[in-house]
Amino acid sequence: MAAEIRVFSCLSDNLGYLIHDPQSRMTASIDAPEAGPIIKVLEREGWTLTDILVTHHHADHVGGIAELKHKYNCRVVAPHDQQAPIKQVDLRVENGDVVRVGDMLARVLETPGHTLDHISYVFDNEKAVFAADTLFSVGCGRVFEGSYPMMWQSLLKLRALPDDFRLYCGHEYTASNVKFALGIEPNNPDLQTWAEEVTRLRAENKPTIPTLLGDEKKYNVFLRADEPSVAAGVRLKGASADDVFAELRERKNKS
Ligand code: ZN
Ligand code: FE
Repeated sequence: MAAEIRVFSCLSDNLGYLIHDPQSRMTASIDAPEAGPIIKVLEREGWTLTDILVTHHHADHVGGIAELKHKYNCRVVAPHDQQAPIKQVDLRVENGDVVRVGDMLARVLETPGHTLDHISYVFDNEKAVFAADTLFSVGCGRVFEGSYPMMWQSLLKLRALPDDFRLYCGHEYTASNVKFALGIEPNNPDLQTWAEEVTRLRAENKPTIPTLLGDEKKYNVFLRADEPSVAAGVRLKGASADDVFAELRERKNKS
């Protein structure tokens, strides 16, 4: 039986995710922004939380761990990087490790840049990637701890995944990202189409996530820093992807 994924909002603009294996009845939460909404969805579905898969140490991704662990005694899986101040960790994982949740397998991809410890979880069989604050729809995370080239390399790792994989990111930032991207690539038809869809979804208060990775490759300017149209959009024709990416991120920081 196929895994079931639930998407819901947490805190002000975080996205909560539960992935459930109907066979084993095991359920993982990707990060734990806050316990309340996660417990609510678990109870509505009649699921018990068995695992929390943590992507990075920021408070809006780990704030609910203590309460959830206390309630469900679930396993907490977190990045290998010991610098990361994440408490109550049962299993530390690094690049290439595979975490098993029932019949579901999550492959760990180290995607540093936003933070140094940031990892993404790739569920190859489910064609789903949980990229938290590395890759957003039409955007990417702020580069707090790493360097711009480091973040660009992490985005390339995610871009290498197949087009039919779904992207589940850490925040509902799509509308503001689309606005920024239209300033860089105003004539990108895929971006224009997605912009209209995002406006409609947000007007109905619906999440824009998940999106298809194949679509992100067409309209996410941060995944397209090596495209001539994007370089031209930041007046850096002929510059390296590293430089174009850095310029994009700097501009977004100020927007
Ligand atoms: Zn973060
Ligand atoms: Fe975050």
